[in-house]
Amino acid sequence: MPETIDVLFTNALVLTMDSDLTQYSPGAIAVKRDSIVAVGPEDEIKKEYFARETIDCNGQVLMPGLINAHTHAPMTLLRGLADDLRLDVWLMGYVMPVEREFASPEFVRLGTLLACAEQIRSGITTFNDMYYFEEDVAKAAAEAGMRAVCGQTVMKFPAPDAASYEDSLAMARDFIQRWKDHPLIVPAVAPHAPYTCTAEILHATAELAKEFNVPLHTHLSETAFEVDNMRSENGMPVIPYVKKQGLLDAKLIAAHCVHVDSGEIRSLQHVGAGVSHNPSSNLKLASGFAPVMKMLETGLNVGIGTDGPASNNDLDMFEEVRLAAFVAKAVSNDPTSLPAPQALLMATRLGAQALHIGHLTGSLEAGKRADLILVNISPVHNSPSFRRSPDNAYAQIVYASKSTDVSDVMVNGEWLMRDHQLLTLKEDELLTQAAQIAKKIDAFLIEREQSVLSKLIALGGSLEQESFEVQVKVKITEAYPIIQALKRPEVEVIRQRHYREHDVYFFFDDLSQGRLRYREDDFIDDTKSIITNVRSRLTLIGRKREGAFENEVLLSRSRYIAPASHSLRFYREYFRPKSEIVIEKDRLRWLIEYKGTEFFVNLDHVTEPELGHFIEIKSRTWSRRDADHKAQLVNELLSLLGAAVGETVTEDYIDLVSEV
Ligand SMILES: [Zn+2]
Repeated sequence: MPETIDVLFTNALVLTMDSDLTQYSPGAIAVKRDSIVAVGPEDEIKKEYFARETIDCNGQVLMPGLINAHTHAPMTLLRGLADDLRLDVWLMGYVMPVEREFASPEFVRLGTLLACAEQIRSGITTFNDMYYFEEDVAKAAAEAGMRAVCGQTVMKFPAPDAASYEDSLAMARDFIQRWKDHPLIVPAVAPHAPYTCTAEILHATAELAKEFNVPLHTHLSETAFEVDNMRSENGMPVIPYVKKQGLLDAKLIAAHCVHVDSGEIRSLQHVGAGVSHNPSSNLKLASGFAPVMKMLETGLNVGIGTDGPASNNDLDMFEEVRLAAFVAKAVSNDPTSLPAPQALLMATRLGAQALHIGHLTGSLEAGKRADLILVNISPVHNSPSFRRSPDNAYAQIVYASKSTDVSDVMVNGEWLMRDHQLLTLKEDELLTQAAQIAKKIDAFLIEREQSVLSKLIALGGSLEQESFEVQVKVKITEAYPIIQALKRPEVEVIRQRHYREHDVYFFFDDLSQGRLRYREDDFIDDTKSIITNVRSRLTLIGRKREGAFENEVLLSRSRYIAPASHSLRFYREYFRPKSEIVIEKDRLRWLIEYKGTEFFVNLDHVTEPELGHFIEIKSRTWSRRDADHKAQLVNELLSLLGAAVGETVTEDYIDLVSEV
């Protein structure tokens, strides 16, 4: 008496992707409730099972659903927002400011549903995600019927869903506790990356992942820049560093691993870590070429991921698999590298193993969940077919199939797509809502891009408006007499410093925007003749003069100051100035008290361009009356220091340079 099952697939070219890469043609698969109960030659399976529904696959390929090993699903809503930029400018300059403004549970839900529609259409049945409000990603994925590993982001910056890392860690704990037994969702914790987390955060997330035995999903060794920084700051590459923080004791899923050496690969393999190789993302962001062949030879579970749709810009695993194979061949200068069966294995069984859910999905074997897809291998771009070798079928899928050839998708025994029709999602509604959000994001960025100040604010971090100051600058022939005059009894020296200043001024088309100064101060310890400290600041200097006094003492313009936490290159690419001017000077700076008022006295030797020596006297001021009084004192000081005879300069060096 045959056993009754729910669905019987017949007349298929079955690619099981099991450990022997078994194929059946014509093959059949029996599905009961959420699982596969049998896979084999059609005539055998047909004898053993009686099905409520029989699907004639018409000779097409029946294979495991693809595993997208690394993505940020809700970022479908940021697709095409900002492209052709370096990773830091893209992330810190555009993506994060927009996320701070727009990311919400509703945004995440809509973005995820869109991602699910796109992924189901392209034959993906499982995705590994990392984003904010991850519980809403989980809810949307479950609603769409997809399998997903959902990692709640934790990082050191305030995030759209958490003011502090403690908050996001608490969210992750709560989320994991409530979802850990869900049939489709595997909750996880996702410290964003070593460079966006502190050692303490990494340690805490590893502890959480171990406590609940859930995956820990993070970005590791994505760029050479990241690895160089890690080496200079912590004296070791990225993998040993995260090992020190306990990450290798958890079920680690490491995205990228582009810049890892043989020792690091062995460390990852030794603990059974999973890696997601993301060829489109690495190519588009010019991150480098991951040593995929070495990882596979070492026995690492390497899956393939699309990365977020804002850095790819799609969720097409057929494209990723093909690229993975092509890139491996090109980089090794060896066309036998990463052959089609192995590339497809990465996108299926190895990918599932990399996500630590290899026991559930990734291959068509009795006992595993029914996560499978039907691919039409007879369209014009994929004809004719050869069956001389089993590899012919893999070549058809990897090198010639397109995601649009996927006709039917089943996850956990449930149909998500039949004959190209999505069954769990309303695409039209999702697209309309996405267009509405895109309009708002566009308006936000257009507004922001109009002003240098608002672009500066958008970077986040502390930004202070400096109080006005009374200041005068005088050209002098030599510094020594002034240094001597500062020893007069009327002047009390509070402290003295010596540094070199490297200033780069950015100019913009619209002069009313003011100019942006990137300043690097190298503090010099004269007793040891060494640079003891380097500080970088960004100052937006307004054009407007607030007032002038006798003898060209002036009340300075508005200035916004922020610590420059990014590189000069970052600011150049982010602000895109029309032109730049570099000024370098050696500065002796005194903080003095004169008649009960504090002043800064700067003796500058401007060396680039060669402008000579200057004295600058300045004092902060808070009211016009106070400013009048201080302007009077500045004039007195100029006489006292013997500088009043010099040529008074009212504007910055930058104006002098412009005159020259
Ligand atoms: Zn990513």
